[in-house]
Amino acid sequence: MIGCTRTASLGCVILLVPFLFLTVASGANAPDRQVRVVLRYDDPSAITDTEMETKLIGAFREHAVACTFGIVPFRYVGPPTDTRSQEELPLPPKKAELFAVAAREGLLEIALHGYSHRAHNPLSPRPSEFAGLDYAEQRQKIQRGKAFLEADIGVEVKIFIPPWSAYDSNTIKAAEESGIEYFSADMRGPADSSSSMAFLPCTCSLTRLKEAVASARTAPGPDPIIVVLFHAYDFLESDPARGVMTFDQFKETLRWLTDQPDVRVVPMRSIPGVDSHRYALNQRLLTTPRHLPRRLRGPVYPLVLLSPEGVRIAVHRQKPVVRVIVFYGVLTLFVGFASFLAVSLALARMALSGSKFLLLSGPALVAASIAWTFHEGYFGGRMRMIMTAAGAAGYCIGTWGALLRQKCRSDKDVPDYPFRHGHSPS
Ligand SMILES: [Zn+2]
Repeated sequence: MIGCTRTASLGCVILLVPFLFLTVASGANAPDRQVRVVLRYDDPSAITDTEMETKLIGAFREHAVACTFGIVPFRYVGPPTDTRSQEELPLPPKKAELFAVAAREGLLEIALHGYSHRAHNPLSPRPSEFAGLDYAEQRQKIQRGKAFLEADIGVEVKIFIPPWSAYDSNTIKAAEESGIEYFSADMRGPADSSSSMAFLPCTCSLTRLKEAVASARTAPGPDPIIVVLFHAYDFLESDPARGVMTFDQFKETLRWLTDQPDVRVVPMRSIPGVDSHRYALNQRLLTTPRHLPRRLRGPVYPLVLLSPEGVRIAVHRQKPVVRVIVFYGVLTLFVGFASFLAVSLALARMALSGSKFLLLSGPALVAASIAWTFHEGYFGGRMRMIMTAAGAAGYCIGTWGALLRQKCRSDKDVPDYPFRHGHSPS
């Protein structure tokens, strides 16, 4: 009887385990799970449209939300390629007062967006105000910009946003050394595991905000975060050529956002636990599938910053390494098989010089593909490179396989003369 009870208990436990697992797993998407959204508006400075900034603050007040303003303290106004020009305009007191009042109301969170937003490498394909400069120069720029904004607006500045999201390890150290606590760029930059700063990169634009919220709802793990980046030029009233929405449509978007019961619009500094480890995990989650064609990438969440637990579940679902191995393995085999057939057919009508050419063309193709990938001086287009290398490797396998097969056949076709066994021909 006792044995039966024990067996029944064990059976119950075994039956319950999958349900317990399902309960834990679905807990990630429980109804009380919230999506946090940070609004980040870059570039306000001495030369930007104060009327637009006033209207934005009014919209934030109307919807009771806060926005992180990435302000340029000394806006450079000279020609981008003139390295001697020092034409910099400090944020004027009137505008500083507008921002100060809004910051005291809790509508604005003040962030330092560079020093003058001037590229020290204007001819580079990726402009940068900080990346590439030495540590001391970067620290001086951050400290001077931060001190100016704090004095001008009268608030503590703890957030740094590098212009063009371009930064390096010196920028991270200089920002931390200057008292910065939150570092916000995009998902491309390096993460310093020794840094104690929070890393909150922008994850989407205004036009993809609804898509990002939908993605965050289905994303695994707790605490999905969205950082929406926008600029004055996103508004058709400011820039009819680049604008993506009218100001009324923006207000409509804010209304929609604040109507979502599971969405909270919060200031950047209210979000704890977004360390460099979490940033690096998200970056890695997005990097591996980039080596695959878009349709084969599996579930990815490029518009959302997932929690470490969310990344772990996403990697488990995505199986990126398996996908990469299977895709490039199949590609190599396919090219190898096609090359084998084509070369086998060609060899039937080919002279010896032709087969030598085929033997050498495979390695030459591999060398050419590597040279092509690196011809711009950096390791770009990884997917392009891996596809080319896999194709070239398949070509080598197919070509050499066909040549080897032909050699084996021709060896077999040699007549078995008696003198091979020690008899003299008569
Ligand atoms: Zn900017």
